[in-house]
Amino acid sequence: MSVNSQKLYEGKAKVLYTTDNPEILLADFKDDATAFNAQKKGRIIDKGRMNCSISSKLFQTLEARGIKTHFIDNPTPNQMRVRAVKILPLEVVVRNIAAGSLCRQTGLELGTLLAKPLVEFYYKNDNLGDPLLTRDRLHLLQLATPEQVDTITHLALQINELLKGFFQQCGITLVDFKLEFGVDSQQQILLADEISPDTCRLWDTSEADPNRRVMDKDRFRQDLGNVEDAYEEVLQRVLQAIEKQNAS
Ligand code: UDP
Repeated sequence: MSVNSQKLYEGKAKVLYTTDNPEILLADFKDDATAFNAQKKGRIIDKGRMNCSISSKLFQTLEARGIKTHFIDNPTPNQMRVRAVKILPLEVVVRNIAAGSLCRQTGLELGTLLAKPLVEFYYKNDNLGDPLLTRDRLHLLQLATPEQVDTITHLALQINELLKGFFQQCGITLVDFKLEFGVDSQQQILLADEISPDTCRLWDTSEADPNRRVMDKDRFRQDLGNVEDAYEEVLQRVLQAIEKQNAS
């Protein structure tokens, strides 16, 4: 880290630092784990390295398929240099299979295959508990322009198709995930934040048992045990899939 580097922001999972270049920030991934709007706190040993590596590989995979992301490179295994963006205060959730809050709020049974992917917008605001937004509320609060919402929806669906296909090669079912987008100095929308077992629901495709199949933060949320092993297994499968792609 350069001597001029300053802590810009500390979130639940990452610390952001400035660099010598105002267009570039450094994200340092932490081992801290939180759930239920930080009511449950803990640590997942080596999570910083695992999530940074998984996110970096997924961002690179998406970049190679035409999705613009904030990823630049990794100075160390748990650090990511990223393009500086203004993060839109939206959590964009894409769902392929019913789980989590969708089941709690609609009564849909866990594991129900959705006829088409569902894109949802939540207000990124911890004080309000990240509430689900309607499009009208989103516009009322001016959280993004209508054009930005259309672009993000389109990107989210594209990213879903790419990630679903990639995870399929890993023997992993992509149930749902959360994305964040930012706007750079040229007003371009970039995929930002992270894509990791903290922000995705990932099920081992070959495992039918509803507890054993879980390879993501639900292991921590629901005290299922073996959290670190699950994250490491996701990382190893991601690395193997990329190796296979490069070899072919
Ligand atoms: N998610 C996230 N951060 C949040 C809320 C949700 O990364 O603050 C992810 C979560 O890991 C899951 C997806 O978004 O992959 C959908 O989460 P859901 O709305 O079902 O909420 P939960 O059941 O986790 O409360």
